[in-house]
Amino acid sequence: MKHRFLFAGLISACAVLFAAAGCQDEPAGAPVIDGELAMKYAQGNYDLGPRVFRTEGAAKSAEWIEEQAYTMPGMPETGWNIVTLHHDPIRTVEIVFHQKGRAEDNEDFIVIGAHHDTKKLFSDPDFAGANDGASGVGALLAMVAAVGDYMNSRPLPCGLRFVFFDGEEALYQYTETDGLLGSRDYVEYLRRSGQLEDPATGRRYCKAMILLDMIGDKDLHIALAGNSTPGLAKVVLKAADELGYGPKFSLGDINMLDDHYPFLQAGIPAVDLIDFEFGPKNCYWHTGADTMDKISAESMKTAADVALLTAWRLASNGFKDL
Ligand SMILES: [Zn+2]
Repeated sequence: MKHRFLFAGLISACAVLFAAAGCQDEPAGAPVIDGELAMKYAQGNYDLGPRVFRTEGAAKSAEWIEEQAYTMPGMPETGWNIVTLHHDPIRTVEIVFHQKGRAEDNEDFIVIGAHHDTKKLFSDPDFAGANDGASGVGALLAMVAAVGDYMNSRPLPCGLRFVFFDGEEALYQYTETDGLLGSRDYVEYLRRSGQLEDPATGRRYCKAMILLDMIGDKDLHIALAGNSTPGLAKVVLKAADELGYGPKFSLGDINMLDDHYPFLQAGIPAVDLIDFEFGPKNCYWHTGADTMDKISAESMKTAADVALLTAWRLASNGFKDL
């Protein structure tokens, strides 16, 4: 992940201290994930080793994600597909659930994303990023499994795209040509192919983007990036409260350069669910201490369930909150 103060204090920190405790099993009208399954997928992704952009590791990671989706039990027989963007050297994978009965080329949709590449650590060439990389991949794959099964009987009134971005990590430092390459490329791909908006009327098809990054930390506290779209951030906090996860979420005041940023630049409401306090003083971040023992099934489930409920709430009320 990435981060940098773009401009400080745009949105003041606001602790969200909801009293609810525990977690209900069946939130009204949205699927929930199996946290252990998310952990299993995170482990599988982690076990591939370093997944650095422009290397065989990232290419293997993309292939592995595709393979998991194609072999996933419970997927509907029709209405979904996988698009792998081989925009050399970028390997971004998109798992698409189409809205039932809607022409695929003009459907409204929500993007739920995470990056699958890992940071190249010059000090630790074996760095494989459990939290910073694998946790987002695990959560997204478990969401795909939950949604595939759920949408068989209760379809969402819009399309849903799970996007595994390549090239999020900067090799050196975030610039226009280093870092966020997969998400920039993806937004451009949507625009070029007429999927971002109707070229004739300007009506936007891509309604919202929900990003998950570093959400596996056992000691989870998600501070939504300060440059998240305020209306969308509100829906996320409300969903967290509804699920009993309110105390683990707040609106942060740090503006992140993360994969939601190219969406914001394109005028798409976007939110970044990120826990940028990984270990004491963030000391596990981008170090060899980012290992599987630092992440948990429960944390991935917390972030994933909130993201899914957010998507369902947005779509169910016709995106009026944005
Ligand atoms: Zn990172």
